[in-house]
Amino acid sequence: MKTFEELGVAPKIVEAIQEMGFEQPMPVQAEVIPQLLANTQDIIALAQTGTGKTAAFGIPIIQKTDVKLRAPQTLILCPTRELCLQIAGDLTDFSKYVDDIKILPVYGGSSIESQIRTLKRGVQIIVATPGRLIDLINRKVVSLDNVHTVVLDEADEMLNMGFTESIDEILSRVPETRSMLLFSATMPKEISRITKKYMGKPVEVTIGRKNEGAQNVKHQYFLVHAKDKYLALKRIVDYYPNVYGIVFCRTRKETQEIADKLMQDGYDADSLHGDLSQAQRDYVMNKFRQRNLQILVATDVAARGLDVDDVTHVINYGLPDDFEIYTHRSGRTGRAGKTGTSISIIHIKEKGKIAQIEKLINKKFEKREVPKGDVICEKQLFNFVDKIEKVKVNEEEIARLLPSIFRKLDWLDKEDIIKRMVSLEFNRLIEYYQAAQEIEEPSENRSRKDRNSGEKFERSGKFDRDKGGVRKAEKGYARIFINLGKTDGANPANLMGFVNDHVPGKVRIGRIDLMQNFSFFEVPEGDARAVVKSFKGLYVDERKLVVEIAQDTPQNGDRKKKEDTPFWKKEDGGFGKKKGGKKKF
Ligand code: AMP
Repeated sequence: MKTFEELGVAPKIVEAIQEMGFEQPMPVQAEVIPQLLANTQDIIALAQTGTGKTAAFGIPIIQKTDVKLRAPQTLILCPTRELCLQIAGDLTDFSKYVDDIKILPVYGGSSIESQIRTLKRGVQIIVATPGRLIDLINRKVVSLDNVHTVVLDEADEMLNMGFTESIDEILSRVPETRSMLLFSATMPKEISRITKKYMGKPVEVTIGRKNEGAQNVKHQYFLVHAKDKYLALKRIVDYYPNVYGIVFCRTRKETQEIADKLMQDGYDADSLHGDLSQAQRDYVMNKFRQRNLQILVATDVAARGLDVDDVTHVINYGLPDDFEIYTHRSGRTGRAGKTGTSISIIHIKEKGKIAQIEKLINKKFEKREVPKGDVICEKQLFNFVDKIEKVKVNEEEIARLLPSIFRKLDWLDKEDIIKRMVSLEFNRLIEYYQAAQEIEEPSENRSRKDRNSGEKFERSGKFDRDKGGVRKAEKGYARIFINLGKTDGANPANLMGFVNDHVPGKVRIGRIDLMQNFSFFEVPEGDARAVVKSFKGLYVDERKLVVEIAQDTPQNGDRKKKEDTPFWKKEDGGFGKKKGGKKKF
């Protein structure tokens, strides 16, 4: 591999990039830099984000800039404001030792007046989102007559975002003699149209194999019933306590819903999509960049401007219809020499897509099973123990408190203290996973009929007690469901006592059916509503009590309990603090 100097990069720029830690050119740089410096032909570069493409076009552009001419010479178009700022920032870094070079990011949502003022002072490189640039062209404050190089970065994404007409208009205003460079992670038809129309015999540069996913990304999939997708997501996230990941959803609505659910369930998550204001998007992105957010739930378009190198996991909450989007998504991890995992949570109907994506990325997916509760608990426990080992102890700060703490814990030996510490942190987690039914993998050989009936349950979203064999209440009685069962230590006597402790006056209790995780009891029809009402807002330990009138009940065996919010994850409902109406069963 050649050095930057051997590629023809000027010493002033080499000095700057070496300070940035660039020792060897990356493959896309080795290919593009000499061609762009020689200015021979237009270039189409098929390269994912994270391949070093900004420097591939940025370095020669800076080198080719005539600093004495104070007019736009290079135009870089990109889809989002974030990318615009990032490119302009990178170019500024590369040109640290080049005097008198002016680079201006031009994007919507910020003061156009200040952009106009800077343009009037003379700018050589414009990095722009198409819409704002058109606005400036229409106001006649920018002239593209001296532009000799045009870069379209993330061209596919610009087209996805509906910038086709704006790009056409901008390109029609730059001199025909300009050279053009187009970067795209995918090559949809519309890109071919642009290249045919605006580029003369372009050289095609493909970094890695065409459409191949990043080398150091592992691809895994989890096959679940559609109804279990969210529960599987939670388990996967729980299995990786140090996850720093992006969950990709298909629509804005789904993105918001999943983020909301995760937040409600106490995860460190937030959403990023086009229905948010620019200020909201900035806020979320900054939080994620600074690692003040563990899980970002995003749409493909909104995540475009986000440049984070150390994402550990990309999670596909379902697979995209356009498989090339998959390569985009998975390219968000395994960057800058790190390894990453691209996880897909899919249902049976999506299974066929896996083989197609495998062909496209030329890599095999590993089929994984949704982690079982005990495995997750073990993983979290060891992570916690590991943190105890590695925590930085601030001796000075705690010195003052230690003597009284030692005195207080004097009666416990080391083993006891460890057990208590671990229990304090994990009792909730362990209880949650003990009570939660394992996620069942759909059988891949089920008949269509079976599948359809399964989906009906999935859509019902109700407790599974509505399924299977049913038992009607005795005449004159109503059946009441309660989410306490044998696991909670319920037996007919203490359940009757518990009910009567909470219902004003006495109520006659008929038949009782105890299940593992919930139960049914019968009360006279006329009392049913009052009984249900008297349990409203009650918590048993930190678990919200659910008591409701049931229509019928299963006869054969226990049914799955709906997974509740894991209280161990709740910020204020978790350890110690209790919500109003706390009761002991
Ligand atoms: P990009 O594909 O332009 O977003 O670049 C991905 C990352 O690679 C950025 O963090 C760059 O700073 C970094 N990078 C680019 N070129 C090199 C290089 N030659 N050596 C080391 N890091 C690089």
